[in-house]
Amino acid sequence: MARKKTAAFHSWFDEGLAHIWLPYSQMKIAPLPQAAVATKGSTITLADGRELTDGIASWWTACHGYNHPYIIKAMQAQLERMPHVMFGGLVHEPALTLAKRLCRLTRMQRVFFADSGSVAVEVALKMALQYWRNKGRNLKDRFICFHNGYHGDTLGAMSVSDPERSMHRAFRSAVIRQYVVDIPTDEYGFAEFDSLLSGIATTVAGIIIEPLVQGAGGMRFHSADVLAEIHRIAKKHGLLFIADEIATGFGRTGNLFACDEAGITPDLMCIGKALTGGTMTLSATLAGEDIFSAFLSDSPDDAFMHGPTYMANPLACAAANASLDLFEKEPRLKQVERIEQQLAEQLSACEGLPGVVDVRAKGAIGVVQIAPEKMDYYGLREKFIALGCWIRPFGDIIYLTPALTIREDELSQLTGAVCQVVSRLG
Ligand SMILES: *Cc1c(COP(=O)(O)O)cnc(C)c1O
Repeated sequence: MARKKTAAFHSWFDEGLAHIWLPYSQMKIAPLPQAAVATKGSTITLADGRELTDGIASWWTACHGYNHPYIIKAMQAQLERMPHVMFGGLVHEPALTLAKRLCRLTRMQRVFFADSGSVAVEVALKMALQYWRNKGRNLKDRFICFHNGYHGDTLGAMSVSDPERSMHRAFRSAVIRQYVVDIPTDEYGFAEFDSLLSGIATTVAGIIIEPLVQGAGGMRFHSADVLAEIHRIAKKHGLLFIADEIATGFGRTGNLFACDEAGITPDLMCIGKALTGGTMTLSATLAGEDIFSAFLSDSPDDAFMHGPTYMANPLACAAANASLDLFEKEPRLKQVERIEQQLAEQLSACEGLPGVVDVRAKGAIGVVQIAPEKMDYYGLREKFIALGCWIRPFGDIIYLTPALTIREDELSQLTGAVCQVVSRLG
């Protein structure tokens, strides 16, 4: 990595950086990472004193802004009492309260906690496979998934992600082949989808989708009607419907969960990312009663054999409970509505500019899609930093997924920076 001398020099930076392997990064050519030393609201403070307005809320986790005092207080109390205890044979109030609340919000019945989104997806896939095995349907061992889908970076999650667009190309021959199809959008597409399922349903355990918004595959949107129809057809063929709400959950698309907008209840739901308001790593796989009851029998072989060591970490669960309190006490979904309007209005200035392929907004997600040949994500990232913004373009998009609490002037700064940078793509 090219070393650019900055005003603030810290020995921990240079000495430590030589031993760090960064995510999604060609470290030979990537610009040096920025050193963050503090966060608050929608601001990230860097080691050299510069302040950046955050456009992506740390991979859209920090939905209430950073360091929300209410969450911090709840975590401090839990930290004193019991930061962690194993979940094998022991339970605790933060996890049980959280499970009950999550089920009430999602109309699901059982919560299996894990520590990252990818693992929540692995758990959902394993539950789906074993559900059928426990019913004597061993042949149902494949999944249907969608082009541009992304479900995580572990091997099972990779197998149901887009084989080309999900950063997993190198592993194509090593992961299980699944059925990857286009999201149908019209009656012809649905008819094809229906007939495909007729042909293969006996070998398929379930279907996995990011409802309404495909995130890391390029922030692509489909309508609630499309989602409801995919759900209807999947259920018609007896497939389990797995909703990966890791990115869309907790208000991001305008409802608390994206499935709500389509009026559907999945068989399995994965949540993560904003679950703890961006403070701790925690995820969960939620199951309906029909799924759970298929694991109840007199045989230990029918039990679900999975258990992350830090499963249901009490500190993370306390943060998640506090985050849910904030969704109840503060007008988050109203704020999302306002953000969507502002994003749509202000980003529309990019429409028709040379190099711009599409401009779109859904909930608190704003996207400017760029012609791939104009995309230079490392260069663009540096330009945004120069404008005081933390925006991290990837693939062929520049996107904003700010905290749901972002102020109007802060969001204007972000959209202004996007429009300014995009207008110079030439
Ligand atoms: C981020 C993400 C994941 C993976 O979550 P990790 O916590 O990074 O493992 C899975 N599915 C979707 C839709 C995501 O956005």
